[in-house]
Amino acid sequence: MAKARKKLDRLRQLHAWMQSRYATPHPTTLRFVRQCADAHGYVEMYRRKLRITLVQTAPSYHLVMILIHEYAHCMAWGHHKVPKPDHGAEWSLAMGEIYRELYEGDGWRQSCEVKW
Ligand SMILES: [Zn+2]
Repeated sequence: MAKARKKLDRLRQLHAWMQSRYATPHPTTLRFVRQCADAHGYVEMYRRKLRITLVQTAPSYHLVMILIHEYAHCMAWGHHKVPKPDHGAEWSLAMGEIYRELYEGDGWRQSCEVKW
């Protein structure tokens, strides 16, 4: 594989890299929408999966940050808790873990080799 060239494919590739590297209590899926009322992305439980939604018209750099943010919510998602994303300690740790690997570690290069 090589680095995906199209914006949405690259985000799918990054998501696949996260899935291969970071466990989540429920499987995750990624989808894109053209617009959303109040955010550029969010995550929700949908058909027993954690579905990440991103607004495809947002700039690439911003979308990568939102994807990391939302994926961290998936990692911190409670097994039994009522789904309600927050930005507490668990989420912060997850977010930091992905961010460091991607921007200070080898994650960015590794992610370019993942099949999506
Ligand atoms: Zn959040």
